[in-house]
Amino acid sequence: MSTFDAPSDERVLCVMPTFQCTAECTHCGTASSPRDTTWLPVEHMHTAIDQAAAAGYKRVVFTGGEATLAGKNLHQAMRGAALLGLQVRLVTNAYWATNDDIAARRIHDYICAGLSEINLSTGDQHARFVPLKNIFHAARASVAAALDVVIMVETVKNRSITRETIENDLEMKRIRQEFPYPEITVLEGVWSPLSPSVVEQYPDGLVINTQNLSMRKGCDNVLTTTTVQPDGSIRACCGIGMRFIPELKTGNIRETTLSEADRTAADDFLKQWIRLEGPERILAWAATHDPEIVWENMYAHRCQACIRLYKDSRVKKVIMEHGAEKYAEVVYPAS
Ligand code: SF4
Ligand code: SF4
Repeated sequence: MSTFDAPSDERVLCVMPTFQCTAECTHCGTASSPRDTTWLPVEHMHTAIDQAAAAGYKRVVFTGGEATLAGKNLHQAMRGAALLGLQVRLVTNAYWATNDDIAARRIHDYICAGLSEINLSTGDQHARFVPLKNIFHAARASVAAALDVVIMVETVKNRSITRETIENDLEMKRIRQEFPYPEITVLEGVWSPLSPSVVEQYPDGLVINTQNLSMRKGCDNVLTTTTVQPDGSIRACCGIGMRFIPELKTGNIRETTLSEADRTAADDFLKQWIRLEGPERILAWAATHDPEIVWENMYAHRCQACIRLYKDSRVKKVIMEHGAEKYAEVVYPAS
């Protein structure tokens, strides 16, 4: 085991049954839409899950696209994961939770299949396609069934749906009154463009610059989370834009084992560096070698900064020419 082999009990397998989604949010990290019809055959989901369990992974996250569109295949894959002792999480936009009864039936079926955690995605973009009331129906049904619930809210500067508006919504207050014990966590996550040249506006303090750079940590997703996409490709993380960074591809589940893919990822210097320092600090370092590289006050989401690392020819040139100076620090980090 090297410094960059995550302990197996932290390992997460992300399975994307499809890129298809009922929504088409601007800046969707997987560029999903109702028109994308890429599907992962259920036998490949089982292959990945079996290999993950054998390698000591502890959790499978079904995400997408909208994973629930996979219907019976999703149930089968969840059941396979649960039978192997893995925690099973579903990430969904809750389009299916059109009322409390329907939501309760769906959640019951997912729990019977092995579901143990649920993440509900919402925000101004999501709400263009899925009403906020669906999130409350899904949350109520989930906590009634003693599932842990996380509601993830998109965050940009100007938005109408925030953590506060959700917490203050009468429906949310009713749910918390009815079910005071089960856990509902409402989190805000930066909602960022995929293009590294597009600068979004965020609430104060979220964009990186030299004043707050030291607060940024390494990426805890790369080399810990392994994703199998609907086209079978295996990726070394589950970050936004991974579909568009070819260097994050480490194989295809049709011909590569998860262990082989994880080995390929763990042996890659830039991924090790991203895990240790995070893409923002690597960008800042690159700018010390090439002052034409402008990075301050552009990025709030580390994955957007990461896309810049892989796409900007100036940044890539600095990494190629000067990356060796970081080698010892990255490969043999002080404990
Ligand atoms: S709901 Fe999620 S997967 Fe679907 S388009 Fe929106 S961000 Fe993408
Ligand atoms: S920062 Fe890069 S490596 Fe980490 S999750 Fe985002 S895209 Fe993946």
